[in-house]
Amino acid sequence: MNKTPLLDLKAQYKGIQEEVKEAVLGVLESGRYILGPQVQALEEEVAAFSGARFGIGVANGTDALVLALDAAGVGPGDEVLTTPFTFFATAESISRLGAVPVFVDIDPKTYNLDTYQLEKKRTEKTKAIIPVHIFGQPANMDEITAFAKTHGLFVLEDAAQAIGAEYKGRRVGSLGDAATFSFFPTKNLGGYGDGGMVVTDDEELAARIRSLRVHGSDPKSKYLNRLIGYNSRLDELQAAALRVKLQYLEEWNEARRNHARLYDRLLAEVPVVTPFSSEDVNPIYHLYIIQAEEKEGLMTYLRERGIAVNAYYPVPLHLQEVYRELGFREGDLPVAEAVSKRSFALPLYPEMKEETIHFIADTVNTFYQ
Ligand SMILES: *Cc1c(COP(=O)(O)O)cnc(C)c1O
Repeated sequence: MNKTPLLDLKAQYKGIQEEVKEAVLGVLESGRYILGPQVQALEEEVAAFSGARFGIGVANGTDALVLALDAAGVGPGDEVLTTPFTFFATAESISRLGAVPVFVDIDPKTYNLDTYQLEKKRTEKTKAIIPVHIFGQPANMDEITAFAKTHGLFVLEDAAQAIGAEYKGRRVGSLGDAATFSFFPTKNLGGYGDGGMVVTDDEELAARIRSLRVHGSDPKSKYLNRLIGYNSRLDELQAAALRVKLQYLEEWNEARRNHARLYDRLLAEVPVVTPFSSEDVNPIYHLYIIQAEEKEGLMTYLRERGIAVNAYYPVPLHLQEVYRELGFREGDLPVAEAVSKRSFALPLYPEMKEETIHFIADTVNTFYQ
């Protein structure tokens, strides 16, 4: 039986290969391979796309988080409020700087930070907050920025899964003090290798991140150092390919939305929870996540019929072994834990055929008959 993958990057490449080859060959011939004109152009384009003034290309989405937090002055002893229902890198970036991730439970519908729980978790040491627009669904940014403003907190949007998603008519990336994107190949805007970016309106913050990515060097000379930095730069090859793909991003995101709507419709009669949508947001469905009480049985049933599925996220971060010392126990963040037990992704990618979605939905429906 033909396998139905979660995502088909080869199919995407087929549609754009001539343009990508030309862009990549242009870089090979140019003699500029790191932080050159392609990176600069991509920084401007991604900043403009997300409604921010500055873009700073870095080596990956994890470094984007680390450098942005570092530039904002987050360090040892500080606490950063964030969600336990995300990819590990979100919390890892906080810990990497010697700060402490403070996990706040999630909203059962959006799977994003439950803003009503923020105040309970805030202390004198709270310095920043990282909302994650999980699976491409924007977090409740009005509540988050109002809370942050009251308490003088730095807001960093982890938009690794959400480039192009809209909150109240504005794209993510311009809703906090800074935002980060990942260009990991499977992301909605993915390169042919690693890459990431920070976007911000704050000129000073942008300058610090620009310095941090090249060892904390002075903008005027590579050999004058002002900060202890990193080597975290974006390659010209990735930037050139990403510039080609950025032109298709809206079209691809729209195709994902259409596929998601079809799934929603076809799965309306069975006891699975389909992704939440509201008037306020226009998500990009980085993943199409459903919740099912019978998760294990349903995942096995689908896999046996050639349909790739994957659990996101099976272990919420507050219960990860590495965070044992934070002292969480099962039951402490009940919503994140309940969602983790039931949620998994069905295949969704722009090039997908409608008949494939029908086949997958039919298979889910048959499982429940
Ligand atoms: C992918 C991802 C990251 C990390 O990005 P990399 O480019 O893989 O380092 C961070 N946060 C979230 C929510 C992600 O999905």
